[in-house]
Amino acid sequence: MSADSPLLDLNQPIGGEFGITAELPTLELIHSFREGKFPLRYGYYRHVDHPKLKTLQGDLAAQCGVSHARLFCSAHAALYELLRLLAHERKGRRLLVLHSGELTPEWSERLALVRAECVFLRLDAEPLPEASEWSRHDLLLVLHKGSDPETLPLQEVGRGTLMVCSDALPSSLENHPHIQYWTAPVSDVQGAEIGGVVLGRVDRVMSELHELSKQRGAIFSTRLVPQANPKNLASVANISTTLTASVTHQEIRRILTEMDSAENALLYPSGMAAITMILDALRTIERPKMIMVGTLYTDTYGLLRGSVLEGRTLDWEWVGVRDLKRLEQGIDDRTALVFTETITNPLGDVSDLRAVSELTRGHGVPLVVDNTLATPFNCLPLECGADLVVYSTAKHFSGTNAHRGGVVLFREGTLADTLRRQHRVLQMEISEGEASCLLECLPDFPERMAQFNTNGLRVAQFLRQHPAVKEVYFPGLPDHSGHATSQRLLRGTGSVISWTLHHDHADSFQAVYDGPWGPVRKAPTLGSNETLMCPYALVAHYHATDEELLALGFPRTLLRIAVGCEPNLNEVLAGLETALSRAFPQPGQG
Ligand code: PLP
Repeated sequence: MSADSPLLDLNQPIGGEFGITAELPTLELIHSFREGKFPLRYGYYRHVDHPKLKTLQGDLAAQCGVSHARLFCSAHAALYELLRLLAHERKGRRLLVLHSGELTPEWSERLALVRAECVFLRLDAEPLPEASEWSRHDLLLVLHKGSDPETLPLQEVGRGTLMVCSDALPSSLENHPHIQYWTAPVSDVQGAEIGGVVLGRVDRVMSELHELSKQRGAIFSTRLVPQANPKNLASVANISTTLTASVTHQEIRRILTEMDSAENALLYPSGMAAITMILDALRTIERPKMIMVGTLYTDTYGLLRGSVLEGRTLDWEWVGVRDLKRLEQGIDDRTALVFTETITNPLGDVSDLRAVSELTRGHGVPLVVDNTLATPFNCLPLECGADLVVYSTAKHFSGTNAHRGGVVLFREGTLADTLRRQHRVLQMEISEGEASCLLECLPDFPERMAQFNTNGLRVAQFLRQHPAVKEVYFPGLPDHSGHATSQRLLRGTGSVISWTLHHDHADSFQAVYDGPWGPVRKAPTLGSNETLMCPYALVAHYHATDEELLALGFPRTLLRIAVGCEPNLNEVLAGLETALSRAFPQPGQG
């Protein structure tokens, strides 16, 4: 199947011009995408670059004479993501930082966050070592000003990897093959920084950076693309002060802080960026271990399992939500944090936050709770003893499928200070456009959430009694394993429901999925005001083996519906009935 397949015409964005998700109308489209046969035109924002973003990245690469350009939410985030990837690829990589004049305290803080062995060389005071003195594992970072590569102190590098961090895009790197990477801010026509870019020519590293950046979430908002005319990407006057929190940001933080009984909040460009930053802040070589309680959202799970520091994959342990004994046994003096979701995605299990926090408190280990599915309307994790609460604000808070963002909420203390410093020096801020979009959606959040709770329960009850349905995973149902805890902990159980079919033979499964679903749209994400559904295991765990899926606790044919907050649910139920009527055995299939 080619990239201009007519199937792709059915792959339309949901949420308008800056929509965060898209229609996946057939299983064939999902299989073809996941098997790398062609890229989707539109998809969930963290995984599929919007066509406008792709064009901007292509233009930037061409303009700067390199093969790849990857955009991030800020110039400092761009450099940080590149350094984290390169410095920890293998053990023993040194980072040589070449700079002129005194290094500002902010730079020292920023480089300390990379957690690599740094050697500083002051170019105006010390002679440069001979190129032969550098090991091929060394990373040379030149802190530079301006766009001219000719003015760099190094015009040749014997061994090692040369990176330049500048306050401007390069005129062209075409005739400078020794410069492997260049990071710079991306500005709007007024010269204000709106993001950052990594330019690179090493295919393997750039594609790894691309994959990692999707998971780690320090994304450049599609909303900013029209402002970033590459012909006007002027040099930025002061890259560390241009991205500042506005009145809109402050108002969002105030509202969310109040809603969550927190003392303060930090906004991030995505939910995954918020989670990544917590992990990077807490996990160190001395305290590398983290424990996850319950089956977590796929990207969180991947991130927790795959983190590497100094060439070593960091330790992690998984315990079930009811296995508090194993949790207690697992916590030791190498444990950096315990992470759980109040309502787990996709199986709807419920963590007993009070019991978990009693254990983590007793051992002085921070408890981080992803409260995205429950929302503060249904649960206040800080009141249950959590230390940090995290959300993807792209879900129920906004509901429109037109906003991307994340937030961390906390009480003041050392942990909060650490996160605030990291947030400031990396400029991990949400963009003004995304912030405005979110702020518009917050006033009716409680009202919408009450409706989400009502609708979720109604659809779960409908599925539970339907003869085509086998399992229903939803904590609001009395026979669900999370029900008892949910009654103690939650005001309502939200509206994310997973389920399986009695008859999920491949043909029947395809007939159910590919056919019409009434107003229910076939797209990933949750917390959308309009009901969305997706074949969750195929979308989120496509490459998992049967054993891995068994360990996760669900089959390849798991379906997930994220019920919306429609005031009248009858059409949604009728759509479900139509789809499920195709789930019965076809003649000859037995
Ligand atoms: N946490 C949960 C429970 C999620 O479902 C998601 C995304 O679906 C995330 C975190 C990540 O949020 P984002 O997509 O905004 O990065």
